[in-house]
Amino acid sequence: MPFTHPPPYHGSCPCRTIRYRLNATPLVCHLCHCTSCQQESGTAYCINILIETRNVELIDNSPPLLSNDIPTDSGDPQTLFRCPKCYFVLWSYYAWPVMSMVRAGTLDTADLRRLTPDVEIYTKSRLAFVRVEWEGKREFVESYERELVWCEESNRRRDVYLPELLAYKEKLEREKQEGGVVVE
Ligand SMILES: [Zn+2]
Ligand SMILES: [Zn+2]
Repeated sequence: MPFTHPPPYHGSCPCRTIRYRLNATPLVCHLCHCTSCQQESGTAYCINILIETRNVELIDNSPPLLSNDIPTDSGDPQTLFRCPKCYFVLWSYYAWPVMSMVRAGTLDTADLRRLTPDVEIYTKSRLAFVRVEWEGKREFVESYERELVWCEESNRRRDVYLPELLAYKEKLEREKQEGGVVVE
């Protein structure tokens, strides 16, 4: 668990037009050294909170976010969600809208200071001068087996959103086969 204190957790974009709240404990928190995270952050690595999209809520009259897709190595696009005023990316998803990846650095200081990632990943592209340490840290050269890293509660929550994820995947497959958008 990346936090020892209970939800909600709060955050905002740098211009503070967007305020958000995470209404549940993150499923997992990655410190990721992959080349996409380096390029997108403009620095050495990203800290990404994975959480069900339904648990990410815009608050304080925040306007809707802008979104755009960027290509990824996997072939599925990554959809980025930005503040409409400062264009800063607050979160994104890869292929599955049910699960969001929140940029942890956008959390309010009070919550960010109490965050510890669960796992360090893609160390194969970690920059030579970067050293990160925390108690009980696990690291992986690339990705990892979810069952081994996620806590029992997070794996249980995944079982809840899995049908939704599979249904979405199926819909995408059908769209690909039929060469158009399926209206439901
Ligand atoms: Zn902003
Ligand atoms: Zn990454």
